[in-house]
Amino acid sequence: MMKTNILLLLLTGFAMAAQTAPWPNHATCAVCLTYDDAYNSQLDIAVPLLDQYGFRATFYIDGQEENLDQRMAEWRAIAAKGHELGNHTLFHPCLEYRDGEHRQWLTDDFKMENYSLDRFLRECRVANVLLKAIDGKSERSFAYTCCDTWVDDHISLLDPLRKFFSCARGVGATPTDFSFDLMNVPSFAVINHSGDQLIEQVKIAEKAGSVVVILFHGIDESHLPVARAGHQQLIEYLDSHRSQIWTDTFLNVMNHLDQMKQSERK
Ligand SMILES: [Zn+2]
Repeated sequence: MMKTNILLLLLTGFAMAAQTAPWPNHATCAVCLTYDDAYNSQLDIAVPLLDQYGFRATFYIDGQEENLDQRMAEWRAIAAKGHELGNHTLFHPCLEYRDGEHRQWLTDDFKMENYSLDRFLRECRVANVLLKAIDGKSERSFAYTCCDTWVDDHISLLDPLRKFFSCARGVGATPTDFSFDLMNVPSFAVINHSGDQLIEQVKIAEKAGSVVVILFHGIDESHLPVARAGHQQLIEYLDSHRSQIWTDTFLNVMNHLDQMKQSERK
């Protein structure tokens, strides 16, 4: 009798856990792979690997990138396969000063301290039009350039950008709950991290049942790189755990999370 009760309790508990699991197909956690600034290695190395394993990722492209012009057919083709082309402004403005960092490479025209909110919003709107002309899509996510979330005299971009985007990627520690704002989702910025270190971030999300967003730039390239082997190690880990880990575009994962949050409120 006692055994039956325990079994019933276990079964009920399992059913409840399964019902309330936030991720599709009862996955334990979600992973978004994101790649910024249209590096050649993204098309040459990342995309073939992602396609080989059937994973979809998000590519944040600012409109001024030469690769957007020169390899437009390839960007269009990857969007048609389900990858997301994300908005990353037109001219990639950044704050000259943030958190003790002085970005001396910025010219005056593209310092966000010199941007009005209106100018920033117009730039984002035109970047949306440009990307729509490439992939035909009306909905996409945004990634803050240099992860900077304000312009001019500390005017926050989070609320003004809600009219263009349902979600946006910022930077920060891998979340262990869902208390973050969908317009400033923390991401793990990769700067020469090893495959083991990247997998470590996924394990934080697996343990918490949360989501991890990884921010890549080039693969085996000079600026903020990740080694090809480390990048591949992460993809292989995601593949070998694909029944527990949902890997998808930033837009798809955040839209799912948004729906989940809305249904909890009802
Ligand atoms: Zn960027």
